[in-house]
Amino acid sequence: MLAASTLSPKLAAAAVGGGSAGGVPGVGVGLGTANKAAPFALPASWAYSADVVVVGYGGAGAVSAITAYDAGANVLIVEKTPTLASVGVANTGTICTSIRGGGGNTHISGGICFMPLDQVGGALWHNSMSYGATPMAVSQAWAEMGVQNRAWLDSMSIPYAYSTAATEYGSIVPGASSGFASCTPTGGGAGFFYYLDQLVQKRNIPVIFNTRAQELIQDPNTGEVIGVQAVQNQSEVVNIQANKAVILTTGGFEFDARMKLNYLKCAPYHFGGWQYNTGDGIKMALKAGAGLWHMNTTSGRYSPWIPTYNTAWAQHHQTTGYIWVDRYGNRFCNESGLPSHSTWQVAVDWNFTYGQYARVPALLIFDSAGATQPLAGGEDPRLMHHETAARQEQTTTTTTTTSTSTSSQLVYGTGINQLPVQFGGTGALASAGFTGSAVGTPWSNNNAAEIAAGWIIQGADLPTLAANIASATIYGSNQGMAIPAGWNSVESMDNVTIPESANGGFGGTNCRNFSAANLTAAVNQFNKDVAAGKGDTVFGRTAVTMAAMTTPPYYALALWPAGPNTNGGPIRDQFSRTCDPDYNPIPRLYSGGENGSVWGFLYMTGGNNGESISFGRIAGNNAANEPSYQWPTS
Ligand SMILES: Cc1cc2nc3c(=O)[nH]c(=O)nc-3n(C[C@H](O)[C@H](O)[C@H](O)COP(=O)(O)OP(=O)(O)OC[C@H]3O[C@@H](n4cnc5c(N)ncnc54)[C@H](O)[C@@H]3O)c2cc1C
Repeated sequence: MLAASTLSPKLAAAAVGGGSAGGVPGVGVGLGTANKAAPFALPASWAYSADVVVVGYGGAGAVSAITAYDAGANVLIVEKTPTLASVGVANTGTICTSIRGGGGNTHISGGICFMPLDQVGGALWHNSMSYGATPMAVSQAWAEMGVQNRAWLDSMSIPYAYSTAATEYGSIVPGASSGFASCTPTGGGAGFFYYLDQLVQKRNIPVIFNTRAQELIQDPNTGEVIGVQAVQNQSEVVNIQANKAVILTTGGFEFDARMKLNYLKCAPYHFGGWQYNTGDGIKMALKAGAGLWHMNTTSGRYSPWIPTYNTAWAQHHQTTGYIWVDRYGNRFCNESGLPSHSTWQVAVDWNFTYGQYARVPALLIFDSAGATQPLAGGEDPRLMHHETAARQEQTTTTTTTTSTSTSSQLVYGTGINQLPVQFGGTGALASAGFTGSAVGTPWSNNNAAEIAAGWIIQGADLPTLAANIASATIYGSNQGMAIPAGWNSVESMDNVTIPESANGGFGGTNCRNFSAANLTAAVNQFNKDVAAGKGDTVFGRTAVTMAAMTTPPYYALALWPAGPNTNGGPIRDQFSRTCDPDYNPIPRLYSGGENGSVWGFLYMTGGNNGESISFGRIAGNNAANEPSYQWPTS
């Protein structure tokens, strides 16, 4: 087996950016060694056939497909969601004109692609970020490929903005001083996927949409993965042959309630992303003998989750006049000093007295003045801010005097930039070319509608607010999302509700034990520290990020551990091969992207898209260089 740093002569010659560092770990590494008997009968016929079958058409899938094609393979992409046209979305604008469907989290992401500038320091840093959960060889592959990301974008003529990047974790992580950068394709995530989709189309790589892969097909004797079984158009079972390899790029398990309960460190955990990422690739890989890694890791924060929107979205900061308290009214951290993508780690605190996660939900407390007070350093003063899930299905029911009809429509946008202005976005949904309504009903400017809806709890003074919190039904307790019947009814998503005990514990998410004394003490101490002007004496929040909360009425908004995405999935080696629990590769099975991401424990902004490029390239090259499967002669 080749070491991660060994360059294939063939690929070195075709190095991106014209340099010599264009290699991909392990081209020609050969078949894996895990020998798992096939759980699934060999099909009698194949509806489709290709050398390399890529399952999931987001960023990692697109990069894998492009790379495998450029390495000489015949490639087919399988995507679960239908084409946009087939569900009535007209793309008429500039950046999104040619997106046909799919796109995944990639399309709705901010588009930032993070990369190391130094292979050695970068590998050390990446490995440290995983707290050892990612083998060093994989971190080395991450760094070796990551330093080429910019050159790869150039080689693909994808335009981007480049900047050097400080990490979110400062100097505490070994290797942090080695230098990092990010490239953000023009148009953010929508732009990134647009350019990738263009590259796929230019190569005439077929994408079969509305085709949900559900099983891997393996040689019963060798365990080699030789195809995929899928459900097409929600009903038709089709077998798809892979002569060389299958690459699973199906994203994470953000919208599978049971997987979230079993693998994430606290619950409920809400996501704001591509709702079709339901861990399918993880389940398929498991059935084929894969082991799991990084399942307890997400990139996530504390975020509001509002049923109407059916999604979480990030609130980075709201105002200087705010604190977070737990379900008993106690402050528990420096709210403005946490790394954006690992904030969720502070939510993991089980209280044995009440039998509940003490900080799930946490409550954002602010006063009337605080809601409009800007943060120092140019932070957005608005209450709600930043990303949201942008692809949602909306069902419209039209009733006339003679009939009732229901139609589904995709509302499709991209993270930050597509949000209505009330969310801190630019309201660019329409100008980006999407017809249909904006994402949900915009947040009101004075919060009145949200208070009336019970999303924001109000109190004339702190004791009244505390009493109202204790008696409120806190929304957002359900684990999953109700999926409207329709074209995606093959989904396995379910709503899991854990019965609530009398004291609001064990599954309940209400705050029955919320204490007025605790809340009042927390606010008074905070105000005292503001008055002294020397910063937070309890948790170390800096003075410029603080303002007194003295103007009634007071408000509370529930915050949930919530993220853009999960990172766990099947174990991957430095050659992007999917491995069994003992790290033996499963023959002819590869993965890329957040379906078993190389990020463990801590996550860095832009890390997922950067990885989609790096490991998409490794997977695509190595899959294309597999020898063709030899059918048994007898
Ligand atoms: C709001 C938001 C902002 C983000 N911002 C950034 C950022 O700026 N930078 C960054 O690096 N990361 C960001 N991320 C994370 C990043 O976007 C994702 O981790 C990354 O795009 C994952 O790429 P992927 O190709 O692995 O998965 P995806 O892009 O999610 O693609 C997976 C695809 O697989 C399809 N699929 C699923 N199951 C099946 C099946 N059974 N059969 C066939 N197809 C299937 C899905 O429909 C989907 O199209 C953000 C995420 C969100 C939600």
